[in-house]
Amino acid sequence: MKNTIFTQIPATLIPGDGIGPEVVEATVQILDALGSPFSWEVQQAGMAGVNSCGDPLPAATLASIRKNKLALKGPLTTPIGEGFRSSNVRLREEFQLYANVRPALTIVPGRYENIDLVLVRENIGGFYVAHEYYIPVGDDPRAVAVSTGVNTRDACKRIARFAFEYAVKNGRKKITVVHKANILKALTGIFLEAAREVAREYENQVQMNDMIVDACAMQLVLNPWQFDMLLCTNLFGDILSDQLAGLVGGLGMAPGANVGDDTAIFEAVHGSAPDIAGKGIANPISLMLASGLMLEHVGRHDLAQRLRTAITETLNKDHIRTGDLKGTASTRQFADSIVRRL
Ligand code: NAD
Repeated sequence: MKNTIFTQIPATLIPGDGIGPEVVEATVQILDALGSPFSWEVQQAGMAGVNSCGDPLPAATLASIRKNKLALKGPLTTPIGEGFRSSNVRLREEFQLYANVRPALTIVPGRYENIDLVLVRENIGGFYVAHEYYIPVGDDPRAVAVSTGVNTRDACKRIARFAFEYAVKNGRKKITVVHKANILKALTGIFLEAAREVAREYENQVQMNDMIVDACAMQLVLNPWQFDMLLCTNLFGDILSDQLAGLVGGLGMAPGANVGDDTAIFEAVHGSAPDIAGKGIANPISLMLASGLMLEHVGRHDLAQRLRTAITETLNKDHIRTGDLKGTASTRQFADSIVRRL
């Protein structure tokens, strides 16, 4: 890295809701201490956006992401039921972030050791297109609820190609395609069919097998080491990636990248955790690891590796951990300890 002049990279920073501002502050502290190349443009979204200007996805936030093509985002609260459509789903659609990459790696040995998996989730289609409506019967206006999922062959091939390319670039050997083609024959059948088609192009480099989602959920508990990468439809990937987080210590340990052809948004897998928001006890590792993925995205593998080493040493040599990992450190104390390890 000697003699290389690194320029600043403008990036949008969204503190988000609930524990978002706490874990974002801790992560920015670490990135600053690392000498990261990012120069932040702070923008609001989620309930913070509603409170500041009445919009969960303010125009200024969208404009900033459109310009920078790079963002680090805290979790956004989506109220259940009617009203606002999920800002996360809208962001993925708006910037065509069709690939959701969720690595799960054991850092703290727990119930499972040596987990090293990557889940790639189709991030725009499936049931998340939210074509939903009610049909009234008699005097019940909501007697029947209908939801339609949409998967196109092109989108399925696009995400499959993304996963196989990821495998080749990152030395992964096997992709398990997760589906429910025995029941959702069209919606997830087309996904499996497209993956098989793409897999043929990579057959000398990457193996492919497939598994029905319910069997996969059980196998992940019984023998997760049989998997290398999982390629999932939107809904199944959403669910199984939380299960992967459970294999490596919980939601506080799981980063995610939302990637499109020209824009990428990095975030923690977890939500805004309203039950612990404002208490200063959230585990910031998920967002820190997400910022590591962001550093790799801009070619700074060196800084990402230093960040991961400092996190690992803080957890396992200093034994400093937040409450979810059975420790007593606050979010701030944990971040301060990582800075000392950098
Ligand atoms: P959640 O992930 O916020 O919380 C689930 C449980 O995990 C809670 O007990 C919480 O305290 C704990 N937890 C989560 N992150 C933690 C951390 N970093 N450290 C310690 N403990 C942690 O899920 P939820 O309660 O179902 O959702 C709350 C809100 O977040 C909802 O509005 C939901 O829509 C939203 N959400 C947003 C995103 C996102 O922005 N990407 C993702 C998931 C959920």
